[in-house]
Amino acid sequence: MYGYMGKVLRVNLSKRKIESEALDLKVAQKYLGSRGLGVKTLIDEVNPKVDPLSPDNKFIIAAGALTGAPVPTSGRYMVITKSPLTGGIAIANSGGKWGADFKATGHDMIIFEGKADKPVYLSIEDDRVEIRDAAHVWGKTSEETTEILQNEIKDSKVLCIGPAGENLSLISAVINDVDRAAGRGGVGAVMGSKNLKAVVVKGTNKINVFDEERVKNVSSQKIKILREDPVAGQGLPSYGTAILVNIINENGVFPVKNYQEAYTDNADLISGETLTEKYLVRKNACFRCPIACGRVVKLADGSIVGGPEYETIWSFGADCGIFDYNAINEANMLCNEFGLDTISAGATIAAAMELYQRGYIKDEEIEGDGLSLNWGDSKAITGWVKKMGLKEGFGAKLALGSYRLAESYGAPEISMTVKKQELPAYDPRGIQGHGINYAVNNRGGCHIKGYMINPEILGYPEKLDRLALEGKPAYTKVFHDLTAVIDSIGLCLFTTFGLGLHDYVEMYNAVCGDIYNDETLLEAGERIWNLEKLFNLEAGISSSEDKLPKRLLEEPIPGGPSKGHVHHLNELLPEYYAARGWNKEGIPTEETLKRLGLEEYIKYSRLAQA
Ligand code: SF4
Repeated sequence: MYGYMGKVLRVNLSKRKIESEALDLKVAQKYLGSRGLGVKTLIDEVNPKVDPLSPDNKFIIAAGALTGAPVPTSGRYMVITKSPLTGGIAIANSGGKWGADFKATGHDMIIFEGKADKPVYLSIEDDRVEIRDAAHVWGKTSEETTEILQNEIKDSKVLCIGPAGENLSLISAVINDVDRAAGRGGVGAVMGSKNLKAVVVKGTNKINVFDEERVKNVSSQKIKILREDPVAGQGLPSYGTAILVNIINENGVFPVKNYQEAYTDNADLISGETLTEKYLVRKNACFRCPIACGRVVKLADGSIVGGPEYETIWSFGADCGIFDYNAINEANMLCNEFGLDTISAGATIAAAMELYQRGYIKDEEIEGDGLSLNWGDSKAITGWVKKMGLKEGFGAKLALGSYRLAESYGAPEISMTVKKQELPAYDPRGIQGHGINYAVNNRGGCHIKGYMINPEILGYPEKLDRLALEGKPAYTKVFHDLTAVIDSIGLCLFTTFGLGLHDYVEMYNAVCGDIYNDETLLEAGERIWNLEKLFNLEAGISSSEDKLPKRLLEEPIPGGPSKGHVHHLNELLPEYYAARGWNKEGIPTEETLKRLGLEEYIKYSRLAQA
């Protein structure tokens, strides 16, 4: 078996039973691995209508076909489950080192079922797999948990939840290697609902590759391309993803104060250049990554911690009217410690600030917390993060995310979400294709499952007019399918700064065998996207949820380079559905599902149309 390890762990936490099953290679190849294989497993084994925090939901961790293989950025793994935040599919991935070490244990996927009667963690040392007591780490932060468990299993890697996941925060994350996060969709709460604190891995297995010489050549060729690319080879290594702050702001699509504005004169205070000059201690790279976009920074108290990504700088920064790196860096560190999704955490505070600004939230509701909800109060945000993580005081409301918060005040329009998940750091009123990506995204408000910023702002693989409508739906569809491929084979999305579809075909085939060509690999991505859509339809998320917050459709951007624009979703949506081969109601047709080899799931299309 090439690329894949050939084994799946099934862990029933209710029965404390661990089984090792053979991987179905044909299925793994058809769905590529990681995201695709996990989604296929979830829809086959879990009723999409299940309560996400009940023992009947399953929590799946899967490595990609190339995870751990000697190709660039092969450290990624994916968490797949039903999301307690959106009620639909949750697909959250992360880098660092954990994914490669998991694969080295000789496994491709773990399926957690049921619920433990008390806190436990799973240890995997090759074929020695044990469910162990986790009472001593329950309540601990991710760093404390990692340190304690690494003392118990030397040289291991730790994936865990923090107090936010234990407290079932709907915006809680899964953290690995202390500061890397599978962040979105409230996946930490699913682990918490199962009393599963951590998964500790230590492996000695090697990946069997199809053609070693070819892998070497293909890999060095791709590394060369990435090193010579201006973004992957210079911008990201020098400044991290924070390099985007000035770029996005200069285009007038940098959301400020919960998307009330889209441009700020203060961007440079929180830019990548400023982060590098004043706070950067060193760069950090995930497993086998030649790009090294990760940051390690110094906090105001002198401690050295993992640094923030662009999205985090925005969510705790401009979105809350804050331009203070000390506060942003600390809020980022606290999210890692408590196990919170930094995008949703910051954006929820921003929504709360707007609810306060408009008089929905009254002083008496928050005075017991001793924290303000004033725009720009940098001292308050770290306090709110702690309270969210512990579900304390008003923090308990924030821990449910901005949609449920705003809805509880009768003002859901103030939540800048799609499918109840907070939007990231790009105002789609000035980036029309990216708005489609947000609206139709299977996992809710999301930037990375179809990063239209590449063509519309950065010019990859070609520069598109960001305000034009023509052709954008079909373009976005291709980005969705390509991203499903990259996620599922287990590589980092940032390789798209330089690499294209054919490069992924070459890497996959060199490692796994000559299975795919350009057309069929992209079609595998399309298959995965359609399956996720079917899961959502059966879960009750119809295409009427393919929408954007009212503000983005009706309120023109008030100032800056994108002044006067709104998003034209209603004109673009029918074209997107047509490009997908879906009917006018946004439901995959039988013909499309047959073309993609998804015949066994046609029942979900019929049910959605009934
Ligand atoms: S580019 Fe950044 S996120 Fe991607 S693998 Fe490299 S260090 Fe990790």
